[in-house]
Amino acid sequence: MTRLRFARRIAVLIRFSLMVFLGALPALAQVRKTCPGGLTMKLTTGIVSQGSLILAEVRSTKGLPAVASEWDGRAEPLWKEGTALHGLLGIDLEKKPGQYEWKITWPAAEDKELSCSVVVTVHAGKFPTEHLKVENQYVQPDPEQQKRAEEDSKKLRAIYDTVTPERLWDGKFQWPLKDVTTGGNFGRRRVLNGEARSPHAGVDFPAAAGTPVFASQSGKVVLAEELYYSGNTVVIDHGYGIYTLYCHFSKIRVAAGDEVEAGAEIGEVGATGRVTGPHLHWGLTIQHARVNGMQIVTRQP
Ligand SMILES: [Zn+2]
Repeated sequence: MTRLRFARRIAVLIRFSLMVFLGALPALAQVRKTCPGGLTMKLTTGIVSQGSLILAEVRSTKGLPAVASEWDGRAEPLWKEGTALHGLLGIDLEKKPGQYEWKITWPAAEDKELSCSVVVTVHAGKFPTEHLKVENQYVQPDPEQQKRAEEDSKKLRAIYDTVTPERLWDGKFQWPLKDVTTGGNFGRRRVLNGEARSPHAGVDFPAAAGTPVFASQSGKVVLAEELYYSGNTVVIDHGYGIYTLYCHFSKIRVAAGDEVEAGAEIGEVGATGRVTGPHLHWGLTIQHARVNGMQIVTRQP
């Protein structure tokens, strides 16, 4: 074997070991903390990148007290599953890298309160920058279009501010298209017609116009109308601050107020709003955090 070939083999071996090591990282990063009063806090990981999801769990050896939870200083709902409490921590795709706290508190004897916390480290996501060409009215809207867009975002903000204190979902989250499990573009930093715009907060699934789109999960339709940037849009509330968003439909098949089952047809793929062609834009929001929806299908709450 020549020296060069030997060096190449060593390089391949090092790369392979590194891949195995990195693959094992999420398991290594799992967090488990023993708290006073027999409580345990658990997170699927304590090290994440922007746009990720973490599953949180609280267990007790003596029956669960009334536990309140806070993620980065904001109330974070927990729901009961079997003998444990579960929660979903969403890391917004623009959350500043750093260390954040997940904290629980619960009443103890003599009017006292006990608390326990764990730290989560957030790293910057590696999102490519993409340059796109779209119709100019979507980059430089006129005052009337600007007003419409602002009203739309106000409406969406009011929706995401509402936390339905009830679990409306049932079973696993599903892909919004039949037989399509690969989507992309999540988190991409965007330059439209040469101007920097907010990052891409959802996952794009390429599909032909007219392809049926299905609810990823059961819940209540809270918005079903045309919005300026996202075209014909549907938002479904799944409870506890978890929402899915579907954009650019050619046809909407549901109305606000409808209760839908997971897998129900809610519309058809189209190219309405700010698009470069027909596709489904699918978003997942958890307590205001815009996260990668692919993770909720592959890692279940
Ligand atoms: Zn999109």
